[in-house]
Amino acid sequence: MAVGAVGAPYARHAFGLDQPPLAGGYASAADVLTDANSPSTTITYHVRTEASVVAFTFDDGPAPNWTPMVLDALDAWDVPATFFMVGRNLSQHAAVVRGRLDRHEIGNHTWSHADLATLDLNHAVEEINRSAETIHNVTGRTPTLLRPPYGHLGGSTILAADKLGYRLVLWSQQMREAQYEKNPQAQVSDIVDSVRPGSIVLAHDVGDQRRLVALRHLGEMFSGLRARGYRFVTVSELLALGDETAAQRP
Ligand SMILES: [Zn+2]
Repeated sequence: MAVGAVGAPYARHAFGLDQPPLAGGYASAADVLTDANSPSTTITYHVRTEASVVAFTFDDGPAPNWTPMVLDALDAWDVPATFFMVGRNLSQHAAVVRGRLDRHEIGNHTWSHADLATLDLNHAVEEINRSAETIHNVTGRTPTLLRPPYGHLGGSTILAADKLGYRLVLWSQQMREAQYEKNPQAQVSDIVDSVRPGSIVLAHDVGDQRRLVALRHLGEMFSGLRARGYRFVTVSELLALGDETAAQRP
């Protein structure tokens, strides 16, 4: 896909976006673009693959009550997942996840859940780097995936991700806790029925009490998807499958 404003094919997976959202948000970064610094990062909503694979993602944690519950469900169903962590939450609640993340991936969701679209490039970089440092200090890992808070791609978001070597990861399906608060079976069916090969599912392990309608029924979603022939992967595993598929495409 060509990116009109900057002429760089950076967004292979940016379905439905004719124009890059570089000039959106409150702190447009388009003025710092030159041919030399045109971004080449990718934006992924889902991955093109024939394989029945799906990646579950959990944002905003960790938190003392819900993150262990999610980890228990993942353990019980032998499901790897990706946690897009808020650095500040990880620094406060490192004990909650220590020793429990081996099979899971950790992505960057900024230090303070800042809306990067409202920040200038330096502050966006700071938010991302401070979180990455915390993730590294606690887990020994270096995150390669960035999920911008609120899914906002405006302002400096894409430039900051590109500068720091991140792939931007959004989602193709999400829990609908407000809609299904009183109807967990509908929430389960919604996910089980709507997942497609290469889907990325968004859930949250922090926040409003209604989110429990999803978190308490993860096992039913996993079992329903297994019955449909799905297997579970981390986002990086999914991206690797997508890259293979792209390489095989004529
Ligand atoms: Zn978030």
